[in-house]
Amino acid sequence: MSIIQLEPVTTLKGVGKETADVLASMGIETIHDLLWTFPYRHEDLRLKDLTETPHNEKVTVEARIESDPIVQFLGKNRSRITVKALVGRHLIKLVFFNQNYLKTKLLPETIVTVSGKWDRGRQVINVTTIKFGPKTDNSDFEPVYSLKGNLHQTKFRKLMRLALDHFGGEVEETLPSHLLIKYKLASITQALEGVHFPLDANHSKQARRRFVYEELLQFQLRIQALRKVHKENEHGISIQYDLQKVKEFISTIPFELTSAQKRVVNEICKDLKEPTRMNRLLQGDVGSGKTVVAAIGLYAAITAGYQGALMAPTEILAEQHATSLAQLLEPMGVRVALLSGSTKSKARKIILEQLQNGEIDLLIGTHALIQPDVVFHKLGFVITDEQHRFGVEQRRVLRDKGVNPDVLFMTATPIPRTLAITAFGEMDVSIIDELPAGRKQIETHWLKKEQLHSVITKMELELRQGRQAYVICPLIEESEKIDAGNAEEVFAQLSTVFKGKYHVDLMHGRLHSDEKDRVMREFTEGKTDVLVSTTVVEVGVNVPNASFMVIYDADRFGLAQLHQLRGRVGRGQFQSYCVLLADPKTDEGTERMMSMTEINDGFRLAEKDLELRGPGDFFGKKQSGLPDFKMADLVHDYRTLEVARQDAAYLINTDEFWNEAEYKSLREMLEETGALNGERID
Ligand code: ADP
Ligand code: MG
Repeated sequence: MSIIQLEPVTTLKGVGKETADVLASMGIETIHDLLWTFPYRHEDLRLKDLTETPHNEKVTVEARIESDPIVQFLGKNRSRITVKALVGRHLIKLVFFNQNYLKTKLLPETIVTVSGKWDRGRQVINVTTIKFGPKTDNSDFEPVYSLKGNLHQTKFRKLMRLALDHFGGEVEETLPSHLLIKYKLASITQALEGVHFPLDANHSKQARRRFVYEELLQFQLRIQALRKVHKENEHGISIQYDLQKVKEFISTIPFELTSAQKRVVNEICKDLKEPTRMNRLLQGDVGSGKTVVAAIGLYAAITAGYQGALMAPTEILAEQHATSLAQLLEPMGVRVALLSGSTKSKARKIILEQLQNGEIDLLIGTHALIQPDVVFHKLGFVITDEQHRFGVEQRRVLRDKGVNPDVLFMTATPIPRTLAITAFGEMDVSIIDELPAGRKQIETHWLKKEQLHSVITKMELELRQGRQAYVICPLIEESEKIDAGNAEEVFAQLSTVFKGKYHVDLMHGRLHSDEKDRVMREFTEGKTDVLVSTTVVEVGVNVPNASFMVIYDADRFGLAQLHQLRGRVGRGQFQSYCVLLADPKTDEGTERMMSMTEINDGFRLAEKDLELRGPGDFFGKKQSGLPDFKMADLVHDYRTLEVARQDAAYLINTDEFWNEAEYKSLREMLEETGALNGERID
């Protein structure tokens, strides 16, 4: 704790009760609080040449008043003052709104320095700030703070200047010298000066660079500390799987694992074996082969005498997982069962008994897995698919059914790495960033809606070769408010077009669940040729024979969702096509359509999405779990985030960090934020 953290702002000259109250309402009580209140921008006060300044740009100029002011009253407390002024050899007008008190001061021959917007056409500066006298040096950049109450920028700047002059020397360095040297970072004193009153652009940039690194290092240290506390306190089970059997199983898989799959399998198996509880996120693009990785992990746990569970967000997906896992694992003697909302009560009773006796090794299902009467014999490993569709609470309930089982979250929604290590910071992250060899890229085209007929011709070409097609619509039925493709109308149209030739069916969220199952089953079995659907088919549906997809009003969807939808085709050996029908009305919409036609890789699209929408929108506000940074910006500072992450991961395990004086400030930060007690960051 340094002196400035104790010194109240009221010690500064000019801070009376009233100012102290406003400052307190801004969270400023000590000198430290004040110094760490950063400006949100700087006014660029460098003198500019008016002849080179574009219309509507802000300028600062020195001017000599050339006329008496003309005052106009515009009604209630509103006025406008106009004077002529000479800037260099340029005669212009200065206009002041609602600054009536200036009328006695703006006398001919007075020299003033003014800033404001340059109206090039009318040769007028709309003045927002004025100083009397010529421009003084060292004030090229003036800080602008976000203030409350009747506190003015001028007053606040004065306080900041005072605080820096009196206490700047007392501020203790918060980063160890070897990091300052390694990254050539500004010292804390230089950085504070540069963040508030930079001498030039570089000074300001260096100050910002230091604070960004520091902020991200602190953030990553908190995450690493949390992990460490977890590892030390959360005793999981050490699953001693039978490596020989696991290898045998892998050799029965009809294809060679990609190197990304092998790496991830190793990461998962290592976690299983360790006595700490696995808390891992598995990310893989659509079609990257997560299922087989899950199967290997589950099988490993089963060879050690444990049960496994896999939870999926919908019945269709649970069924699909059950089918593919049974196919892979039953030959190895694994007893697989499916439990879903539609399991009949008699069958359910038997499954529950066998589960409790240990006669079932692997249970797959939906939310039905977390009913209170579902009791496991010896649950060791739990996988949830599409994790962000499950609430935290549901995951906890399932976990509590076993003796602190290992948990793996799988998701096919690629999250940019920067966000993954930030939002899911205390989780380990495994990424399958490679598709199996020989996959054909999905050809994606963007067409205007008026070109629909050519799309139908192309679709028919595919259908004639025995392929199937999806047609995705944003809406179920016609809407008065939104003009977008609706599934019912498109279904009616296509039924007419293909009458007697191809079978068209309709799928949407409002159908009864029996009906949904029937529709999906008939499409899976190839009885249906064209499936008109809303986005309910987005997640995981696997029909390898489908090779053609049309997405109506594609600009209404985000990139991540479009990529998920597109992932429904290209799942077999056939060349597949995706047509985006859209007449986007914004530049961003156009850019999204372009990105889809150019980029096939889900991770690269996710980065693009992040770039277009920003990190807040990427997750939706609620789920984001992203901290509020003062300086750092995850989109632009992701390289620094990565560096900070590596530094934090290293530091947290060194003796120096926990003992030496240089790290005192960082240790105090960990203590204050509760990270050492295992408290989460929010
Ligand atoms: P996703 O990651 O989207 O869940 P899946 O696990 O459903 O992907 O796999 C997609 C398809 O790729 C499946 O048919 C699967 O059998 C196949 N597959 C998975 N891994 C490989 C591989 N290494 N080589 C060839 N095909 C693979
Ligand atoms: Mg899958």
